[in-house]
Amino acid sequence: MRMSRLLSMLVAVLAATLLLAPQASALPAWPSVGQGASGPNVTTVQYLLRHHGHGISADGAFGSATRSAVVAFQSANGLTADGTVGSQTWPRLIVAVRQGSTGEAVRAAQTQLNRYGAGLAVDGQFGSGTDRAVRNFQSAHGLGVDGQVGPQTWQTLVGGGGGGNPSGYALPLDRSAASRGDYAGPHWNSTPAVDLIVSYVPAYAITATVADHFDSASCGIGLRLLRPDGSRFVYCHLSARSVADGASVSAGTRVGTTGDTGNSGAPHLHVEIRTSDGVARCPQPFLLAIYDGVAPPSLSSLPTSGCTS
Ligand SMILES: [Zn+2]
Repeated sequence: MRMSRLLSMLVAVLAATLLLAPQASALPAWPSVGQGASGPNVTTVQYLLRHHGHGISADGAFGSATRSAVVAFQSANGLTADGTVGSQTWPRLIVAVRQGSTGEAVRAAQTQLNRYGAGLAVDGQFGSGTDRAVRNFQSAHGLGVDGQVGPQTWQTLVGGGGGGNPSGYALPLDRSAASRGDYAGPHWNSTPAVDLIVSYVPAYAITATVADHFDSASCGIGLRLLRPDGSRFVYCHLSARSVADGASVSAGTRVGTTGDTGNSGAPHLHVEIRTSDGVARCPQPFLLAIYDGVAPPSLSSLPTSGCTS
């Protein structure tokens, strides 16, 4: 009697284990995110820490304030307080969100969905657009399609490699902030550049670069993003920079907020590309390639005049 009860309990536990974890082996590993890291996974960690009551800024750069918040979160949750978000901390940090949810955890989910080209405004409002993006993502990744960002969907989002942009590149704005036509448009004068008409929205590094602060009467609050060979991306008219002078940033790291400083008629982001010889090149073909998810052309192949596409 006792034995058979024990056996049937064992069978039930086994069955439940099999039923609950059919996809466990297909999930990517949780990434390890620690001090010095940057990019959307860091922004995600920061939004989730904010959800849990830690008042840090979600700037995509894992500095000492983020590390302190992680250590505090780990201590409070009985985890090893090593300041790195890995396979033990992620499952405690994530928050299940679904249509109707609001706040920082929704921003975290939207940040992740945009890594896969969802093009959502990171507004913390889980509406029908976010719901659609979640369902598309779940369907594309063999997950149960329920529109809820729960543990398996979180792990697949955070652990996956992203998509929608060629690896190593990101658009300078959220995908929803500017259309393909905006990236193709001519500059208002003959300077090789593009003006992206947006209000006060996050601006991101196009690729791995070193941030170089500068200010000028025409550019206003400006930022050069330097590549090792001396070529650079230049942003103008920012309302604020959110990376330190000299900081290394990766593609998709938030570097500032667009604005209306300098010689600017209305809020917009002015983007220039200059090769190592200082020559300004048309950014349109380069940005359109990123928008279209194909490898961008070499900077030296970009035209120096007639910048439209
Ligand atoms: Zn301009």
